[in-house]
Amino acid sequence: MTEVELLKQLESKGCSFIIDVPSVGGFESKLLSPEQAIRLLSDKESVYGEAMGLSKADYVEWHASQGSVYCSELTAAGKRCRNMVVRGTGLRSKEWLKLRDSGGYCKTHGG
Ligand SMILES: [Zn+2]
Repeated sequence: MTEVELLKQLESKGCSFIIDVPSVGGFESKLLSPEQAIRLLSDKESVYGEAMGLSKADYVEWHASQGSVYCSELTAAGKRCRNMVVRGTGLRSKEWLKLRDSGGYCKTHGG
């Protein structure tokens, strides 16, 4: 019996695989499939991302920034402005993804 088959048998007997995903300012409890539970051992950030509705890269960015979206404008030196978008901090994963993809501006750049 493979590890996944074992977990599937446990699941069929009412066992659930619940994880506390590192989130903004704490953790969020999420239910994992047996396949995800196994993958947690080798690629936890990918599983965290799936549980939060994000890709692995987006999960890493969202968690590292604590749900912050940075200004879309360039500075005079041609670098991306590192100020936060107005009301663009502490966002939950789906709100963060939406705002990051639509872009926005900090106070200095007219946000
Ligand atoms: Zn800016």
